[in-house]
Amino acid sequence: MTKLGLKKIPLLLWIVGALVIATSIYIETNTPLDTMGLYWTINIILVALFSYFGGLFGGLFFFMILSGIYLVMGLMTTPNELSLNNSMTHAIGLFIAISLGTLGWKIRTNEMQLTKLFENNDISFWTWDLESNEYTFSEGYASIYGVSREVIYDNPELWREVIHPEDKAIVLEAHEQQKSGKKTTITYRFFHSNGDIRWMQDRATPHKDKNGVVTRVDGVIYDITSQVKAEQKMNQLIHYDSLTGLTNKNWFQNYLDTALISARKYNRALAVMFIDFDNFKRVNDTLGHSAGDQLLIQIAERIKSILRENDIVSRQSGDEFLVLIEGRNFEEIEDLAKDILLKMNSPYKIDGTEIISTPSIGISINLDCEDDAGVLIKKADFAMFLAKENGKNNYQFYNDELNQKMKRKMILETYLHKAIEKNELTVHYQPQFDIATFRISGAEVLLRWECDMGRIPPDEFIPIAEETGLIIPIGEWVLRQACRDIKRFKKNGLESFPISVNISTRQLMAPNFIERVQTIIKEEQVHPKYVTLEITESAFLYYEDAKDNILALRKLGVGVSLDDFGIGYSSLSMIRNIEIDELKIDRSFLNDSLKNDRVRSLLEAIIQIGKKINTKVVIEGIETKEQIEMLSVHKLFGQGYYYSKPIPIDEFEEWCKGSLEKAKSF
Ligand code: C2E
Ligand code: CA
Ligand code: CA
Repeated sequence: MTKLGLKKIPLLLWIVGALVIATSIYIETNTPLDTMGLYWTINIILVALFSYFGGLFGGLFFFMILSGIYLVMGLMTTPNELSLNNSMTHAIGLFIAISLGTLGWKIRTNEMQLTKLFENNDISFWTWDLESNEYTFSEGYASIYGVSREVIYDNPELWREVIHPEDKAIVLEAHEQQKSGKKTTITYRFFHSNGDIRWMQDRATPHKDKNGVVTRVDGVIYDITSQVKAEQKMNQLIHYDSLTGLTNKNWFQNYLDTALISARKYNRALAVMFIDFDNFKRVNDTLGHSAGDQLLIQIAERIKSILRENDIVSRQSGDEFLVLIEGRNFEEIEDLAKDILLKMNSPYKIDGTEIISTPSIGISINLDCEDDAGVLIKKADFAMFLAKENGKNNYQFYNDELNQKMKRKMILETYLHKAIEKNELTVHYQPQFDIATFRISGAEVLLRWECDMGRIPPDEFIPIAEETGLIIPIGEWVLRQACRDIKRFKKNGLESFPISVNISTRQLMAPNFIERVQTIIKEEQVHPKYVTLEITESAFLYYEDAKDNILALRKLGVGVSLDDFGIGYSSLSMIRNIEIDELKIDRSFLNDSLKNDRVRSLLEAIIQIGKKINTKVVIEGIETKEQIEMLSVHKLFGQGYYYSKPIPIDEFEEWCKGSLEKAKSF
């Protein structure tokens, strides 16, 4: 700072200073004392100038040099009254010179800073003289508008002309406020000389005279385009989906909350549609993500084209879209859903390929005043699930019954996670018989689950286990349990027969399924011939993958049975390609064959097929003596309530003892 002070002293002043000092030394040594007055006067002026340019330090610096010289000179000459008096006067003179100089320096630097501020490129200060109605601007103006100073002088109204037409009203309004003495801060758009639209911030302060009349307004304008753009980008990220340009989930939820408030106030109906596209994942998997993205863009466009201008569509996530419909009655909402279904069913063209992606639509309406946005969206989501369960490509309205169903499912799902660890799982056994001889030929192990919600039927919890993947640990638990029971039966002196364990497709397709089966059987030290795995036809939808696993299982030595045989659509092609140990004919054949000759012929044909390919044929669901009689002509195996329901292991063991007599006596 002080160094800077010295640096700012002009070179000329240094030279003059040096000359004056040299001259004064010369004069001091050669001339009588009375010339000293002039000499000091010049010196004092120099000190003042040094202070003016170099500040306090500059002045002191020069003064010290002078004092030094004066001291040396004083020592050389004999001191007297006069010189002592003189030094007092000189000292005061010097003090005044330094003070005045420094003051000047201070004012000068402040002014320089202010000028700098006015010369700033991004900012322009302006003054509006209300009496002459003239505007004056500081230097920055030219660079803000991207024009030369000449242009400004030629056209003082330029700033007014380049305001964006849509924002002119904002500026006019601000002027009115300023005239009435109010401070204003406004943001408006203007055209830069290069044609860009930019953003300006304008802050103004009016000044009043002593009568309280506004005579002048001072203000500052600055270009805030980069700031606005950054904000817009943030907004875009927060509220918009970058792929489709639609608003996103956050935005929709906020908007819906406000829409609900006004709908409640004016007693208006409002509906939320949750639309999910049915085979989107397949498109992504088979044609790639960029095709998936294109499909989403086209879907978004199409939905928008179906809706009215004030309906709102938003992308929830993935292939899920939300639509908000206001001011339509129930029939109109239903009509819209039908319209969406119809129009979304026509194919999309992506890279020359035609793709069909049908929608499943869930709809919720603001019937319950308590519902907030989150609840309404969730209800629409539930209804969409129902649409999926009803075979997709349809729409469903939310209702409370559905809610109960979904809630139960969700609760069961959480409970099921803990089922193994809480020891809630057990198994029941249902015997299998040789129909002709009544000898027990095997048993099927059937899983049972009892939790805090009571006893849950397998048809309810097995699908949940499959959906959540819990079927993998649960299935392993059943297999291990069956293996342990096989050893127990042997220990308790029961006849040896294979135990059939149900295997879900999801288990069969799990990457390490074969190793897991092998490990469990090995660990439990059971001979694989006592284990039969029942798989269903659905596994054959993934035929290529399933084939290898089935072959590997048979190689392990376990039996493979095709469960629910005959009701699928690929029953025959399955047994054509893979050797299977057992066919388990679905019980629906048996139910109908006594009433319907055609079904009976079919049943007999299936039995024949099984025998021809050397496969054990089991028929399930035997409930009556009549059915037994009908079947006894064939060499068959059977299972059903007629013999026994699935029962707990202790009962089953009891049952097995003397089963031959029991079965015969039916
Ligand atoms: P499923 O494999 O077809 O099993 C036969 C089902 O039919 C059993 O129902 C059984 O109780 C029932 N049933 C047996 N005889 C008769 C009869 O004469 N009449 C009638 N109406 N029904 C009879 P459950 O135990 O309720 O099991 C239902 C389904 O749950 C099973 O069908 C099977 O798909 C699945 N499941 C059961 N346990 C397991 C398991 O440990 N793992 C897997 N993945 N699925 C299992
Ligand atoms: Ca089964
Ligand atoms: Ca079955």
